[in-house]
Amino acid sequence: MLRFTSAGVVRDPTTLQLRVGRSFPERMSAGAAEPSRGMTDAEILANIHHFTVDRAGPRQQGCDRLVVSAVTVQRLRQLEGVWRQARQAGITHIRAHVTGAVEQAAEGVDELVAVLDTPERGPSLAGADLVLVPARRGRLGVAEDCLRQVLAAGGRALLAWPLRAEEQPADAPAVRALLQRLAADGLVVRVSGGPPCLSGQPPEDCRPVANRWYADADHQRDEALLFHRDLVRWVKVDACRACPLQGRCSGIPSGWVDTPLHAQVRPVVGRIPDATDSSSATMKPQS
Ligand code: SF4
Repeated sequence: MLRFTSAGVVRDPTTLQLRVGRSFPERMSAGAAEPSRGMTDAEILANIHHFTVDRAGPRQQGCDRLVVSAVTVQRLRQLEGVWRQARQAGITHIRAHVTGAVEQAAEGVDELVAVLDTPERGPSLAGADLVLVPARRGRLGVAEDCLRQVLAAGGRALLAWPLRAEEQPADAPAVRALLQRLAADGLVVRVSGGPPCLSGQPPEDCRPVANRWYADADHQRDEALLFHRDLVRWVKVDACRACPLQGRCSGIPSGWVDTPLHAQVRPVVGRIPDATDSSSATMKPQS
């Protein structure tokens, strides 16, 4: 279903994010205010029901993916019965953005994700399925240590570009140089949060940023927020007009417009490959 908003027409998301807890010191902020309290078990279940069973209909699709955030592994384990009911309501995948240590799995949860911004914290995240390492200005040396540590232990890591200017997103040339140093050692790391012209990621992998509902104790059910509208907006800049990825790239987070990243946006060169095109390597970011 399409939704008409002040930011244009947006498609109804099929992912629901629930910020379960109040405190989330490790989080990479997208701009949501800290809620006044955490969600109760009954509220978690009521919101899952609202965005799945209650929404499913001939002209509307219920959510089938769930992201829970600001939650400890211990609380996840206590909520095992809730995850079981979420599956019965149509949820097929549950990802948890965890606070605190991640030393054990949580039954019923598919993916445990943690943020690592200092190598000292690394050993306490040994049970994480995915580790996000922030790409902050002046901290890329630390980020490199974190990435190498996770990969050396056989884990999965993603370099995560902060979406907000307040979190000091690193400049694009420094991010690409870091990726090249890792690649020279056979370590392939993907980047989240930035377009291919800045990250140097394969342009053929570029997709519009997927939206999701965002609910916390203060924004529940019909008062839930749209993540990419109410929290983060993506904008195109002048350079995008000449870019063949215009139709599939979301651009940059609006918060980056006041950072050096704005001036580092460059159209990628080449033609747009389609999904079945095996010659997509003709396209590359400008250096
Ligand atoms: S120039 Fe604009 S449209 Fe092209 S990859 Fe960069 S941000 Fe996306």
